[in-house]
Amino acid sequence: MNIRLAQRVQRIRPSATVSITALAAKLRDEGRDIIALSVGEPDFPTPAHICAAASAAIERGETKYTVVGGTRSLKQAVVEKFRRDNGLEFSLDEILVSCGAKQSCFNACEALLEGGDEVIIPAPCWVSYPDMVRLADATPVIVDTDAAHDFKMTAEQLRAAINAATRALILNSPSNPTGATYSRAELQALAEVLLEHPRVVIITDDIYEQLHWGAEPFCSLLSAAPELRPRTLTVNGVSKAYAMTGWRIGYAAGPATLIRAMTTVQSQSTTSAASISQAAATAALTGDQTCVTTMRDAFRLRQHYVVDRLNAMPGLSCWKGDGTFYAFPDVRKALSALEIADDVMLCERILAEAGVALVPGTAFAAPGHLRLSFATDLETLEDALDRLEGFFSGARVK
Ligand code: PMP
Ligand code: GLU
Repeated sequence: MNIRLAQRVQRIRPSATVSITALAAKLRDEGRDIIALSVGEPDFPTPAHICAAASAAIERGETKYTVVGGTRSLKQAVVEKFRRDNGLEFSLDEILVSCGAKQSCFNACEALLEGGDEVIIPAPCWVSYPDMVRLADATPVIVDTDAAHDFKMTAEQLRAAINAATRALILNSPSNPTGATYSRAELQALAEVLLEHPRVVIITDDIYEQLHWGAEPFCSLLSAAPELRPRTLTVNGVSKAYAMTGWRIGYAAGPATLIRAMTTVQSQSTTSAASISQAAATAALTGDQTCVTTMRDAFRLRQHYVVDRLNAMPGLSCWKGDGTFYAFPDVRKALSALEIADDVMLCERILAEAGVALVPGTAFAAPGHLRLSFATDLETLEDALDRLEGFFSGARVK
């Protein structure tokens, strides 16, 4: 007998970043020589002082459920982080700790959205936003951006996309997959439009804040436009900045009413985030921040290397972002030169013929592109880029 699945789940697809990485691991288990540049996960180990804090928490017997919204010490560390890095003041009832920034975003969608609601998402966008919106019965409205406009949504585009059904906007800066980062002035221009539409809630996902090396310092939406505070949720986490993806800790700061509703959603799913991970995240946020700078510098070096090499390949053109550990080359010319139908097919061919796992731009609502994660050591990147060069050499105009 076939099990009848809910309509809800039939609206969504598995996360492409996660599933392609699983496929790469499977091929590798089968003995294939595969380099996975598909998942956005720092290759560095979690810094020792953070691991030590987790061990100490186990020793102290902190191995039980915590309160749903996060331990007092982690919430205080989050409050202090916003004060230190962003000049923002929050109280403890405006903070929620989740199992990753992903769960914070998910909780927000569940708490805010319903059928008929529209959510504006500038694209290229992280794979999970549109499907989280769909799972909450709402409709993602994709606003396309391109390299010619630095992959950023303009105030005019935002104004044109807002209508009576618009319930939320999801901003992600620095962006996965492009690395594009909104400046203070650009955020203020978007805020001017948002101030005309008081019912639109803004979710700003700042998870790549620490992996930013643009000309201007990183600026969070609320630092640029404090007037939006009553309806802005700021999401962040420790996965990327502290190489802590597996610990599953993220957090959100916003209006107490929304945080309370998100906490209720979380109380009916995972309860709290893991107690031991919360102790580790507290150490990450309050401890020595040198590890963040060291990893950022390494990613920055790799970015220059990777983007320069991609740009030297025939049929590829790669815009250089202001941060993250992703490169997002435009491959449209290569597709036509190699007579390959689309970016999805191209990724399949690259995996099969060159043994490199990449994610198609289609997964980020930007067909005609590929995402390459350079959160891998330079030696492996060099090997992967040699393989890609071999693959794309066929795209050279003869
Ligand atoms: N937001 C963006 C833009 C991401 O790329 C990711 C990737 N993991 C997340 C949120 C979620 O991170 P985590 O759940 O590990 O905190
Ligand atoms: N966000 C990372 C990525 O885009 C990790 C995987 C995921 O959660 O999507 O690769």
